[in-house]
Amino acid sequence: MIISTELEKIMAEIVTFGRKMLEDGLTAGSGGNLSVYMRDVNIIAITPSGLGYMEMDTDDVVLLDGDGRAIRPGLKPSSELGFHIASYRARPDVSAVVHTHSPFATTFACLRMEIPAVHYLVGFAGKKVSVAPYATFGSDGLAASVGEHISDRNAVLLANHGLVAIGKDLAYAYNVALEVEYTARIYHQSLAIGRPFILDDDEMDRVIKKFETYGKPSVA
Ligand code: 13P
Ligand code: ZN
Repeated sequence: MIISTELEKIMAEIVTFGRKMLEDGLTAGSGGNLSVYMRDVNIIAITPSGLGYMEMDTDDVVLLDGDGRAIRPGLKPSSELGFHIASYRARPDVSAVVHTHSPFATTFACLRMEIPAVHYLVGFAGKKVSVAPYATFGSDGLAASVGEHISDRNAVLLANHGLVAIGKDLAYAYNVALEVEYTARIYHQSLAIGRPFILDDDEMDRVIKKFETYGKPSVA
């Protein structure tokens, strides 16, 4: 198949952000996975299953159609392809999925405790980050529950597993994963020495509204 410049750029970006996940301590080894959905040409580009990010090359990125059918010979796609597709179906506004095993978010996932609005930055994910019930990694059950949880927010904890974050592009989804990990760390530290105040729904509505224009040039 002919790989467009745009697709090649996305495949390279997937490798770069995979390595960044290791550097930023969001995962270890080959844990976690990333994908981008090019909706205009119906192509999903996703990390291969079980390959360490340091060993991964652009050409190892797996290409499939929107239903998960391979469109060129290559490696096996991530075992979590199911929840990547479920996220794209649940959220037509989303074109990238990042799955991490980041330690603080995963700690709350193991306690099956949601992360409340202990810090306004949780707003990148939503008013809070809830926990999808435990299901075996790579299972249809996990895919279905991620699809449900992600329909009205940008992140969900996976019980006894990790985190899924989504966004309009890979940089955005990656940032959501970073902000959730930061908020989880602050929540953990706050609980260790006291009882944190939690921001109310009205304040989080204001924060989420402000995020819509945050970092964008002002309109003249
Ligand atoms: P893959 O290497 O198959 O993407 O699996 C990693 C993972 O995090 C499973 O949940
Ligand atoms: Zn995982």
